[in-house]
Amino acid sequence: MKKFNFNAGPSVLPRQVIEETAKAVLDLNGIGLSVLEISHRSKDFQAVLDEAVALFKELLEIPEGYSVLFLGGGASMQFCMVPYNFMEKKAAYLNTGTWANKALKEAKNFGEAVEVASSKDKTYCYIPKNYVVPADADYFHITTNNTIYGTEIRKDIDCNIPLIADMSSDIFSRPVDVSKYTCIYGGAQKNLAPSGVTFVIVKNDALGKVSRTIPTMLDYRTHIDGGSMYNTPPVLPIYSAMLTLRWIKEQGGVKEMQRRAQERAELLYGEIDRNPLFRGTAVEEDRSLMNIDFVMADDYKELEQDFMAFAQSKGLVGIKGHRSIGGFRASCYNALPLEAVQTLVDCMKEFQKNH
Ligand SMILES: *Cc1c(COP(=O)(O)O)cnc(C)c1O
Repeated sequence: MKKFNFNAGPSVLPRQVIEETAKAVLDLNGIGLSVLEISHRSKDFQAVLDEAVALFKELLEIPEGYSVLFLGGGASMQFCMVPYNFMEKKAAYLNTGTWANKALKEAKNFGEAVEVASSKDKTYCYIPKNYVVPADADYFHITTNNTIYGTEIRKDIDCNIPLIADMSSDIFSRPVDVSKYTCIYGGAQKNLAPSGVTFVIVKNDALGKVSRTIPTMLDYRTHIDGGSMYNTPPVLPIYSAMLTLRWIKEQGGVKEMQRRAQERAELLYGEIDRNPLFRGTAVEEDRSLMNIDFVMADDYKELEQDFMAFAQSKGLVGIKGHRSIGGFRASCYNALPLEAVQTLVDCMKEFQKNH
């Protein structure tokens, strides 16, 4: 049976990327060696890394003066690298979910990390508004897409101090005005590549302003100077990321990714709102286009396991909600075909008819 992959991360990749990665694992560009066994300093891999960086800059229209890095350690490593590199005394954080909260907790090890606002009071079902960012903080940290709770900051916000964003789960799903940010980072395994590589976009002249000693591997300048080759980078995930970036470009770039995301989200939220058996968990204006969370409506709670089994029988994979919120989560990343969402919607309609 055809499977539709709604996993939250690692998650669906374009079929073409998987096939071309598989080919390169057997033989990279006909050189007679696998991508798994070549030197990261070989010209064949250097070309891959250069193309990945160039496509990053082209697709996101990254202005002059920014570097694009590919590192290990996951987005979670950035929770400490960000304060190491940018926090002198004080930093401001918007607490919009599990990941935002982890970033905030880590920053507390480095100085005064202020929680500017939080939506924890309502299980993170909304994005706080009308908060005040302290003008004397070194930066303001946001999580643009809350992968677990299904909320998203879909527009680039204006900020009076340097803005830093975790974009792990919505990078390349819309155009971003990179000039508004000092740093953007994310794990690649949601929208870009297999797990193992982290991307960082950093404004060069914002670095070197803190007085603490930064461990070599955690200093962005090390990786800028080394061209992401100070040590051995995650070669295979970078190769796949490069292929995904080529795919995004072929498909029409981030504007087209945004159009598709809106199309998928309208279809699924439309059914969630129409079908009396289900209810969305995020407030409407802050709904994520990437992670769509819903539960059984209050009168139908006992049907949750039945629906899960029914969806599985239709080939729908990975729609179980995160353990901290329950219900269902349909992660609709760039590579998810509309057909997958249509199949889920048909499944919800059929389930309603049967009950
Ligand atoms: C998945 C995720 C993380 C954690 O990423 P790792 O690469 O596993 O460390 C951080 N932030 C967000 C928004 C995520 O979705």
